[in-house]
Amino acid sequence: SVRDALAAPRKVRVPDGVESEPLPSRSDLTGLSPGLAAGGEEEARKRLTAWLRDGITGYADQHDDLAGDDTSRLSPHLHFGALSPVELVHRARDKGGAGAEAFVRQVAWRDFHAQVLSARPQASTADYRTRHDHWRTGARADEEIAAWKDGRTGYPVVDAAMRQLRHEGWMHNRARLLTASFLTKTLYIDWRVGARHFLDLLVDGDVANNQLNWQWTAGTGTDTRPHRVLNPTAQARRFDPDGTYVRRWVPELEGLEGRLVHEPWRLTGRERAKYDAYPDPIVDLAEGLDRFKRARGRD
Ligand SMILES: Cc1cc2nc3c(=O)[nH]c(=O)nc-3n(C[C@H](O)[C@H](O)[C@H](O)COP(=O)(O)OP(=O)(O)OC[C@H]3O[C@@H](n4cnc5c(N)ncnc54)[C@H](O)[C@@H]3O)c2cc1C
Repeated sequence: SVRDALAAPRKVRVPDGVESEPLPSRSDLTGLSPGLAAGGEEEARKRLTAWLRDGITGYADQHDDLAGDDTSRLSPHLHFGALSPVELVHRARDKGGAGAEAFVRQVAWRDFHAQVLSARPQASTADYRTRHDHWRTGARADEEIAAWKDGRTGYPVVDAAMRQLRHEGWMHNRARLLTASFLTKTLYIDWRVGARHFLDLLVDGDVANNQLNWQWTAGTGTDTRPHRVLNPTAQARRFDPDGTYVRRWVPELEGLEGRLVHEPWRLTGRERAKYDAYPDPIVDLAEGLDRFKRARGRD
């Protein structure tokens, strides 16, 4: 019968010479961030209910606070289809208020990117709007890409975010924006390099949202201000004002209080030596900005 044909096999024979290992149990998989530790429709609905009860009201004011981590973290559930976006929007609207309105506006980006990709499928790999970039390549660029992926660029907020990505398979939207701007604009590296890395690690990694957000940030997509460059230090001061987010992910800098944690290069002599496990910046921000402006013919 069809049922038998679709049933999971009772036993799986592996080829000779291939050792099998026990499956990890759920408790082995802890350490993941809230909202990601388990999947499935039941978990997704639980998270949505909790979000509507406790989180959504503050969304308009708090969603950009890196340390507060006050977004819904529903993206993996939406990505895997465990949650209907239509139901999500209806229930958010029923709740009402400024937080819910801001949340619904944000969810609309998901549909927007899906529509853009549907109209222009080649935008998953090719520039949506070319800026005739000659992205950097070569040994130096490769070293910088490796430093970016590993979270050792010497810019604490960038490094915190890249380490969170590796550890949790997730990153806050503001952190995605600033790390993507850093790679594509400050380092002037092809957006496809970053998009590939995100897709490899993100638990919500999704071609439409990932590639088109990368293009948006690189200025080859639908951003109406394609040449803006985010300054990571200014972003850090604004969205992680007391440095809590950075200290959470960059333990080498734990001892630095307040905003100084965003600018360890300001330290000198013995004070700097205390933190020498943390690298110096791999690029000067002003030089990076100049290079980008020249490349785009904007100086
Ligand atoms: C460079 C870059 C890459 C990204 N890659 C992905 C990706 O692979 N998959 C993905 O789902 N999102 C991606 N995003 C969008 C966004 O960062 C995440 O959807 C969001 O951080 C998920 O967290 P949340 O569920 O707590 O978001 P919330 O702030 O709670 O938002 C609710 C939902 O709205 C949708 N949403 C919010 N912001 C966006 C956005 N800018 N674009 C599209 N949908 C959005 C998501 O479905 C999200 O779950 C990317 C953004 C950037 C800048």
